[in-house]
Amino acid sequence: MIRVWQGDITTLDVDAIVNAANASLLGGGGVDGAIHRAAGPGLLAECRTLGGCPTGEARITGGHKLKARHVIHTVGPVWKGGDAGEAELLASAYRNSLALAREHGLTSIAFPAISTGIYGFPADQAARIAATTIRDHGDGLTVTLVAFDSATAQLLAEALS
Ligand code: ADP
Repeated sequence: MIRVWQGDITTLDVDAIVNAANASLLGGGGVDGAIHRAAGPGLLAECRTLGGCPTGEARITGGHKLKARHVIHTVGPVWKGGDAGEAELLASAYRNSLALAREHGLTSIAFPAISTGIYGFPADQAARIAATTIRDHGDGLTVTLVAFDSATAQLLAEALS
């Protein structure tokens, strides 16, 4: 089951929210900053023990002060024009996050539009990759695709239809 929801991912009561993190896992701007602010300093302390995360992979922590029980930190690719494996790395970020959720027995997971902010991935292409990868690898999970703005919400809805 996949749905699109518009709003702030930090407010969601799900088993895991996904963080569009950077490779250091030590916090940043955008959704990463919002998640760390809402989760409190315990999240950063736990992230410091992980030693970072390569692009396309994912790591799991507790949710700390969030309603969500866990945060799955994944690192999407920085857009470099499209010929640097960006599409496969973005699919891999979604795939590895879904796999980690399943390994931990989670059933509900919410994703932001990974890589489409500071990392510059074209939002329409990213929405199609999100929809396809979750359809192919999201079996047994209730997935929320979170759009922060209405343009992204529309792209995600189109990609799912
Ligand atoms: P990246 O570095 O992977 O591009 P960003 O955080 O810059 O990550 O942006 C990813 C997406 O997350 C963008 O579409 C941005 O609008 C969105 N976003 C930012 N803050 C939030 C939030 N609190 N909840 C949900 N989505 C958010």
